[in-house]
Formats: sequence, structure tokens, C-alpha cells
Amino acid sequence: MYPDTQLYIDGQWRNAVAGKTTPVTNPATDEVIGSVAHATTADLDLALAATERGFKVWRETSAYQRANLMRKAAALFRERAEKIAAIMSQEQGKPVAQAKVEILNSADVIDWFAGEASRTYGQIIPSRSQDVQQQTLKLPVGPVAAFTPWNFPINQIVRKLSAALAAGCSIIIKGPEETPASPAELISAFADAGVPAGVIALVYGTPAEISEYLIPHPTIRKISFTGSTRVGKHLAALAGQHMKKATMELGGHAPVLIFDDADLDAAAKELALAKFRNAGQVCIAPTRFLIQQGVYEAFVEKFTAAVREIKMGNGLQEGVTMGPMVLQRSVDAIEAFVKDAIAEGAKATTGGKRVAGPGNFFEPTVLRDVPLSARAMSEEPFGPVALLRPFVTYEEAIAEANRLPYGLAAYAYSRSIATVTALGRDVESGMLSINHIGFGLPETPFGGVKDSGHGTEGGSEAIESYLETRFVTVAGR
Ligand code: NAD
Repeated sequence: MYPDTQLYIDGQWRNAVAGKTTPVTNPATDEVIGSVAHATTADLDLALAATERGFKVWRETSAYQRANLMRKAAALFRERAEKIAAIMSQEQGKPVAQAKVEILNSADVIDWFAGEASRTYGQIIPSRSQDVQQQTLKLPVGPVAAFTPWNFPINQIVRKLSAALAAGCSIIIKGPEETPASPAELISAFADAGVPAGVIALVYGTPAEISEYLIPHPTIRKISFTGSTRVGKHLAALAGQHMKKATMELGGHAPVLIFDDADLDAAAKELALAKFRNAGQVCIAPTRFLIQQGVYEAFVEKFTAAVREIKMGNGLQEGVTMGPMVLQRSVDAIEAFVKDAIAEGAKATTGGKRVAGPGNFFEPTVLRDVPLSARAMSEEPFGPVALLRPFVTYEEAIAEANRLPYGLAAYAYSRSIATVTALGRDVESGMLSINHIGFGLPETPFGGVKDSGHGTEGGSEAIESYLETRFVTVAGR
């Protein structure tokens, strides 16, 4: 039912050179369900040599052919969605239906970037002489090292992988050790579609050891990381020291602004789904709910009712809408956040407790009247906890929304054209969704500002960071 995962290097699935593996646990049951190969520098050296060769082959493969192979991979991946969703649910915990959505969306990402492969346009720049032609060429930057987390095991990889491949780069992916088998299925789809050996490598091991080795390595020309701000700052510094391009997709603490004139029924329903999807382990999850005084009580009531509809359990079971948290330590962290907030004066309207084992379950939790002194109001609670507090004026809400160093996602509900227009200008975030939940499509930007990182992993700008611009000027003599 659940496969062991090997490393993928130079077109082959193989055990680690030193033969080491680490166990993989089902977070819903605490059972060890399989193992993942654990790379050391000997494996990384093989991957680096292969990626260097793979880059030479891939950059000489035409954009048209690269796109064809990518579309073939997307089709194979779609065909296998049922099987892969069951694998993902076992290692990551999310309900099978949500795993399937992630897989199908990821196939769309591959298709969209396949299209981008043929749109990496350069420019002809008017010259000062009749005889001179000035042009820019967009060329692949070189082999990429990508580091991705366990919350969306496939989606976090597919955005980096697809942009890199479309641009003509080869890539070494350090995947999530907690959830290794579903990413392996993604890579298998590309291998089976005929992407040449060396173009893609997938490794697992000790994250810090792998990043410290790959980032400074002269073969690697670009870094892309998704994870916490703490680790992101460290890796961005390392990349800077070695003059490598870097895309950083880091933590967030998304504010939600609900105004007196909002459609409260829609807001309560949509935000409850967005907040507790993936047990709240989402960098763009709505977190600080700021609600205008006139509708505070009504929103608290409607939102709490919507959250009580959530059915928590093993993601493989029919009807379950929220699974466990991936890591035991995340349950401890959320429990500490909730206890601290309650000690500071917050009240739970639903949930508030961890669930006795087996499994890493924490109840979907709504806290009202949360004071700013609560730790969760400033540190990212990466789990199933919504923090609600009232505000009076627009200015007050904006000041609170922008108070933290994060700037990834933000949400708002208001029927006033003046309010929604001002929000687009005033909220400091990379993404803002108003009157619906509208993030994460392949064709739209995905990225943050401030401590949430830099660069985008969606939309027409995403491929830019995998390209370099070369200026060529020719005199017709
Ligand atoms: P963490 O900071 O230990 O790890 C986060 C991710 O970074 C993991 O995938 C981990 O394997 C990787 N990582 C850690 N050190 C690394 C290193 N030196 N080099 C390369 N990769 C490294 O935190 P955690 O307890 O695993 O997760 C909780 C926190 O991580 C959350 O607070 C959240 O901010 C962040 N996170 C963010 C996302 C996201 O989508 N942006 C996803 C998962 C986790």
C-alpha cells in the first residue's frame, strides 16, 4: 500500500551509497509505514555530476520539445491521481479528496509552465546605427537546488520543478523526509514521460547538511526554498555569500479584515474552509481575524458554527475534512500557543485541546478576544487555530494588519468599493484576496514581501528567476 522511497539520481532510482534509510510515520496512526533513503555527500556528488550533464542536454533540447515532455508528464501524473492521493494521505495526513485536488492542480501547474517554455522572449533594442543589431537572449541560469517542505509534498515541488524545466534548467530537489513517497511519484511521471537522465534529481537526508553542501557548490547556479523565515534567512545569506540567485517562499501570518458591510455568511463559510484546510499548515492560511465592531458578535457566531462542521480524523476515511498535523512537535507548539493566549485573556468558542493519541491531532480551534500580548498574535501558529479580535476604524485595522514583519497573504471582506480599492494600496502583503479565496492558480503570482521572502512562484514572472538575460550586439560588417 505504501512504497519505500529511494533517491532519484542520473535517471535511476537507487539506495543511498551508505545504505542508510530513515523511517516514515503515518501522522494519523503513529505507525511506521515505510522508509526513505538518506543521502550523504557521496550521493550528492553523484547528483551534482549528473545535473551538470543533464543541464547540457536539457538546454539544448528545444523549448517545443521540453514543453511536449512536460505535457506528457502532466498527463501521466493525472492518470495516476487516485493512487498517489492515497499515498499522500498516509504520509501527510490530509484527506484523500484534498490530496487529489493538490495532485490535479499540480498537473495544471506543469501544463501552464510548459506553455511558458515557448514564451521566454528576449528583446530587439533600437540601435544608434543602421548597421548594428542589439538583442537580449533569455537563457537558463543553470542547475538549480530546490528545498521543499512537507505541508504540500507535491505542490511545493511542482512549482519549482516546472519553472526550472520550462526555462531549460536542470534541478536537484531536496524533498520532505516526512512525506517522501508522493514527491517520488511526481518525479516518476517525468521520468516515464522521457525527461533525460540527469535533468532531475530527488534526494532526501539531513536538510541542513544537504543545503550547506549544495548551495555553495559551483555547479549550482540558483536556489529556491520554501519553509520557515528562520531557515530562509540562513539559506538566503548562504546563497548571497556565493552570489547565487535565490527565491524564498517563507512564513506568513495572514490578516483577515472583515468590515461592517461584509457578506458575513460567505466570509464565515469560505474562511473556515481556508483556515482549516491541511489542518492549518499552510503559509497563506488566514490567521489574524480582525472584525469590525458592529459585526463582531455575528461573525464569531457564524464562523464558530462553520468550524464545528469540520470532521477531524484519518484522511483515508470517507467524510473526514481535516486530518492530523504532520509533526508531533507542531501539536506541542499549537497547544502552547493556545494555552498562552487563554492565559492572556482569549476565550475558545470551539476546540482548544489536543486529542489523545494515536496520531497528531489538535481540535479545530477558534479563539475570540485575543489580546496582542498573546504570543500567537506575533509568531506564526502553523496549525488549526484562528485568532479573532475586534477593531473600530479602518486605520486601526490597517495598522494591525501591517504590524508584523510578515507580508505573504491577506484577506478582506467588504461591499464598499472605496474600502476594497484602498485595501489594495494599504495592506503590505504579496497577495490580497477580497470577497473570496482566490490564491494559488498557476497563472497568478504567488509570493511574499518583507520577512515572507522574495520572488514569485506563479504567473508570468515566475520563470524569470530561472533565466538570465544576455545582451548581444552585432555590427553587420
Ligand atoms: P523548520 O524551520 O525546522 O523547517 C521548515 C522546512 O525547512 C522543513 O521542510 C525542513 O526540512 C526545512 N529545513 C530546515 N532546516 C533546513 C536547512 N538548514 N536547509 C534546508 N532546509 C531546511 O520548521 P518545521 O517545524 O519543520 O515547520 C514549521 C515552520 O516551518 C512553520 O512555522 C512555517 O513557518 C514553516 N513552514 C512553512 C511552509 C511554507 O509553505 N512556507 C511549509 C512548511 C513549514
